[in-house]
Amino acid sequence: ARVDPENEYIRISAVPAWRALDHLASRNASQLVTRLRRFLGLATFEEKSLPRETVLILRQEHLGSALSLSYDQPIEIVQGRGQYLFDKGGRAYLDCVNNVCHVGHCHPHVVAAAQAQIAKLNTNTRYLHDTIVRYAERLTALFPDPLSVCFLVNSGSEANELALRLARAATGRHDMLVQEGGYHGHTSALVDLSHYKHAGPGGRGAPDWVHLVPCPDPYRGPYREQDPEAGEKYASGVAHALSRAQERARPIAGFLAEPLIGCGGQIVPPDGYLRWAFEHARAQGAIPIADEIQIGFGRVGTHMWAFEAQGALPDIVTLGKPIGNGHPMAAVITTPEIAATFDNGMEFFSTFGGNPVSCAIGMAVLDVIEQEHLLENAHEVGQRLMSGFQDMAERHPILGDVRGQGLYLGVDLVHDRETRLPAGRLLARAIETARETGVLLSADGPHANVLKIKPPMTFGPKDADLLLSVFERALEAL
Ligand code: PMP
Repeated sequence: ARVDPENEYIRISAVPAWRALDHLASRNASQLVTRLRRFLGLATFEEKSLPRETVLILRQEHLGSALSLSYDQPIEIVQGRGQYLFDKGGRAYLDCVNNVCHVGHCHPHVVAAAQAQIAKLNTNTRYLHDTIVRYAERLTALFPDPLSVCFLVNSGSEANELALRLARAATGRHDMLVQEGGYHGHTSALVDLSHYKHAGPGGRGAPDWVHLVPCPDPYRGPYREQDPEAGEKYASGVAHALSRAQERARPIAGFLAEPLIGCGGQIVPPDGYLRWAFEHARAQGAIPIADEIQIGFGRVGTHMWAFEAQGALPDIVTLGKPIGNGHPMAAVITTPEIAATFDNGMEFFSTFGGNPVSCAIGMAVLDVIEQEHLLENAHEVGQRLMSGFQDMAERHPILGDVRGQGLYLGVDLVHDRETRLPAGRLLARAIETARETGVLLSADGPHANVLKIKPPMTFGPKDADLLLSVFERALEAL
């Protein structure tokens, strides 16, 4: 058409073709695939799908009741694409909470990398293979010196367990220091290290080897936003806890901290806190450990890692969730010195950790972050959301505090701005209303009153506007 613009005949099929494309684009992809497969005489999978009631019953019978479901009316999600999820009926939902599918649900580049590698080879790390060394080199290059050694494992919990062993091996000490509100994983040791779990329902408190410091929360903690020295004060709390433990002959092996505290309520610590806290730890012989499992890989928008955004330098960093875009993989990054102390003759081996499929997926995730400029997107869209919620707070006094960095935001709902009485029940209702409108949100924090926003990093300006208008309407309906 460009060569011969006058020739009508060339474009004769364009109108129906566009109509067909529009039609296809408006359909649920899995239903289309099913129909196409049926048309081609191939086996279809969708037909075998279970009725909703059966799924609920089978869950109850076989999955254990400690496993929870989201929303009053749980949704049956069968497909994902980008920042959208689709239910069995083909209805689309805007996903504002899944920070695991970091580069978007089912990103084609990640899927292709997984498919190609799983068809070729999937073994453990006891053979020489290019993918693992290429990935280790590329991943560690994203960290400041001297963080240049990585251990590849399968889950965030496994990464934090290994970090614990590394800190103990490097220091010869046993005890650990953690933050109130922190969550680090579901194994026995990590429930002990997770105040969010051991101090929450069903928890049995902290064992003697776990020492706690207050959550550096400038909205609800002991030092608040109007105190310019809040960061320093919370950090000196860390220094005191370390020396108190030392005095009681329980020296601390490591200070394990989330740079932004997720389950604690999407907390952004005051300026300088993490840098000083890590410096205090190092000065007292404890290993500073950053748990970036939830927040890493550019979510904060300005840096690849949240500890960097706070000018802090850990000696161990744990990575998980977004690292494989949903594929179960995780990593521990550390210094050559700490890695050397861990090599005491006992072999390190994690059967699935660092397998070629995981490494190919990890590489593909890094490709997409770079090629689609997802850090920049997180920064821009995050700012749009932040100012949108700040404007909304002027109209709705229930929004007590709006905080966050990049595509990691928290909105603290209160009954009263003076007393800051948490409005968890109202938030739960607003979340249900938003879900009915097709926007998936969730709550967090010790009072379940913090609206948590951490969508796939492909979340765009239009998604941000939709989220803002749907949430505001949900507030108005309260
Ligand atoms: N640390 C943090 C900060 C997390 O958010 C999580 C998971 N929510 C974990 C550790 C544990 O990771 P996993 O569930 O992969 O074991």
